[in-house]
Amino acid sequence: MEIACLDLEGVLVPEIWIGFAEKTGITELRATTRDIPDYDVLMKQRLKLLKENKLGLTDIQEVISTMSPMEGAVDFVAWLKERFQLVILSDTFYEFSEPLMRQLNFPTLFCHRLIVDSSGVITDYKLRQKDPKRQCVKAFHNLNFRVIASGDSYNDTTMLSEAEAGILFRAPTNVVEEFPQYPSVENYEELKREFIKASDRELTL
Ligand SMILES: [Mg+2]
Repeated sequence: MEIACLDLEGVLVPEIWIGFAEKTGITELRATTRDIPDYDVLMKQRLKLLKENKLGLTDIQEVISTMSPMEGAVDFVAWLKERFQLVILSDTFYEFSEPLMRQLNFPTLFCHRLIVDSSGVITDYKLRQKDPKRQCVKAFHNLNFRVIASGDSYNDTTMLSEAEAGILFRAPTNVVEEFPQYPSVENYEELKREFIKASDRELTL
């Protein structure tokens, strides 16, 4: 049996914080782990900015619901689900991803959770575990699944290395160069072919 593990942002949907920064015009929210490597410092800054701009969870979900999955993503997810058990492994939060997951017809998603008070203010966040993508692949192996994984960035590489097969999707040049062991593709047609190649079953497009 085989499980397909996909990263979410950069593979099926745009970067949520960047899209959110553009929609709201709060440019400081564009900062990512490339600008502030310490994730906790980065998240604390984001939550502070949300508070200063009086954005509660409902406002945020409304903004995010105006964002769309990447072109072709909905069809790709449907294609993959017909051939594999699909699990999305992401470092986003359930509360943020919901409007986009709805448009993808709610595939299974393992990510993190925000802590929201009774007035809708996001007060904190809770990471499910450390190195969650790798831990998921390990857990699937314990359940006797083969894993084929695809992602676009550094936070996916432990998942790719743990899986039987890893595929880079629209990854930045530095990631492609640093991880030459993984095939690197730029569109969903190529990604489908790599999934078929990596499968231990006879699959067709
Ligand atoms: Mg990503």
